[in-house]
Amino acid sequence: MELPFAELYKIKMVETIKQSNCEQRKKWLREAHYNVFNLRSEYVFIDLLTDSGTGAMSDKQWSQMMVGDESYAGATSYIKMKETIKELFGFNDFLPTHQGRAAENVLFSVLVKEGDIIPGNSHFDTTKGHIEFRKASAVDCTINQAFDSTLIHPFKGNVDLSKLKKVFDENSPEKIPMVIITVTNNTSGGQPVSMQNLREVSALTHQYGAKLLLDSARFAENAYFIKKREEGYAEKSIKEIVKEMYSYADVMTMSSKKDAIVNMGGFIGFKERELYEKASVYNIMFEGFVTYGGMSGRDMNALCQGLYEATEFDYLDTRIRQVEYLADKLLAYGVPILQPTGGHAIFIDAKKFFPKIPKEEYIAQTLVVELYLEGGIRAVEVGTLLADRDPETRENRYPTLELVRLAIPRRVYTNSHMDYIAAAVCNVFDRRKKIKRGLMILKEAPIMRHFTVELERM
Ligand SMILES: *Cc1c(COP(=O)(O)O)cnc(C)c1O
Repeated sequence: MELPFAELYKIKMVETIKQSNCEQRKKWLREAHYNVFNLRSEYVFIDLLTDSGTGAMSDKQWSQMMVGDESYAGATSYIKMKETIKELFGFNDFLPTHQGRAAENVLFSVLVKEGDIIPGNSHFDTTKGHIEFRKASAVDCTINQAFDSTLIHPFKGNVDLSKLKKVFDENSPEKIPMVIITVTNNTSGGQPVSMQNLREVSALTHQYGAKLLLDSARFAENAYFIKKREEGYAEKSIKEIVKEMYSYADVMTMSSKKDAIVNMGGFIGFKERELYEKASVYNIMFEGFVTYGGMSGRDMNALCQGLYEATEFDYLDTRIRQVEYLADKLLAYGVPILQPTGGHAIFIDAKKFFPKIPKEEYIAQTLVVELYLEGGIRAVEVGTLLADRDPETRENRYPTLELVRLAIPRRVYTNSHMDYIAAAVCNVFDRRKKIKRGLMILKEAPIMRHFTVELERM
């Protein structure tokens, strides 16, 4: 018999989770007004709300917590982080921040001004938020193939060079301080960017005198896909691939809650001293002194260890194969999901799942509700609730795709949990024809409504 693949870790510490019954879940969901953000986490059996800050640290990371240096200035933990970033990304300077959006806030305070244009591949929502807050605009130059949910393409996160060139040609160069490439592209479903694309975008960006920023939350997952899918990289180590990726960039922002496998943290990495010096001023104002910036010494230590572990092939292989394992089960049952599956999550196409529910009745949120009722699984809506209302007309904005994201936390669940999730999704799929009505809104906030919205069944 051929030996199957198995997780390349064993478990040293466990956290108990509780199963519930359908009656309890019905009651809790009613009390939460059909919004899973309002559920107590104890009422959730398997939590797939996000992969951000929800990973399990290793024994080595926990041991690093004990030897953190909490000195205000010049702490060994700071020096360790500086050396780690130099070794992995090749950047001489960095600033610690409390999380990814804080890194954006500090860096964009230097680089972005009113009227600027920031092209990229589907900017992440906080990134876009920090651009728009400064009255600048984000222009999406992702390749068209990314928007076809079932088209198989190895690098759906890629930037379309002709779209990018057009933005440069139609605007004066002072208006475009930088291009942002998000690796992997979260907004389009955790899709990777190829090395060739990074190389070409970098050359074009520099030709027009702009900087290249890599929004790096899932940089290691991106490197894994390059190794697996791009010609010439199969024999290279993840660390070599990462080093090359960052040789094309000028600056990076990092949410360490993803591929650094810590619960909180972030940083900015710089190639140029001058930009680092300008950003330092804002870091001191918003985050803390340049040697800790919103992080404790022990957290910086765990973060460094996390970066080394996340760039090991075995870790990445275990992680991404787990996501694929779940995807394969769902595909075999005919459940409509986005393809190919990305690194950190599976996206269910809710319009194809529930073709009879009208778009006014929050199709994707209806599926989120059914998944919770079926198995105590908490997923998240990426559809009309998230798209919010048009700020002018106050009408609902209906996105092309109504998605439900099942984000898989790092090193947290076993493949038995994946089997359980697959069974629950398939059970809802079996009874999908009986579900003809969705939800209506009772109460909502003027912006970012999805966090606090209150709903009722139709
Ligand atoms: C999570 C994330 C951010 C923001 O980071 P936080 O740590 O949540 O503040 C920015 N960009 C990308 C691509 C992300 O995934």
